[in-house]
Amino acid sequence: MTLNNDDRDSLVSRLRDLADEELLGVLQRVFADRTLLGTEVPIVESHFFLGNATRLYENTPDGGQAWEPWEIHAIAYPDLSAYDADPDWFGFDYGFSEWAICSTCGIELRCNVKYGICPVCSTKAYLA
Ligand SMILES: [Zn+2]
Repeated sequence: MTLNNDDRDSLVSRLRDLADEELLGVLQRVFADRTLLGTEVPIVESHFFLGNATRLYENTPDGGQAWEPWEIHAIAYPDLSAYDADPDWFGFDYGFSEWAICSTCGIELRCNVKYGICPVCSTKAYLA
């Protein structure tokens, strides 16, 4: 399926208007069976997930300022079972302020709730 330009603009506009947690919920459903082309064979596994890149503009020892290296975070999905929530709940509108390192795959996670699921390896995580 290919969208025409008007439909594409409309879709982009609707997605931009969503709160962060609702955008994540929508993309979680979109990403559920989305893989890199050519990775469907039994010896390779891949899937899409939402990520964020952040860097800080910091003071340097010589009195100047410079950008720090990028930090990459995967945005964890809310663990609905921990909240006894229905599938349409997107979690709290706190932004993705909770943080943890996934105990299985080691990626840094961000989430809008304390109990999340790593979008890379599906391990449950407690974020603080
Ligand atoms: Zn993980």
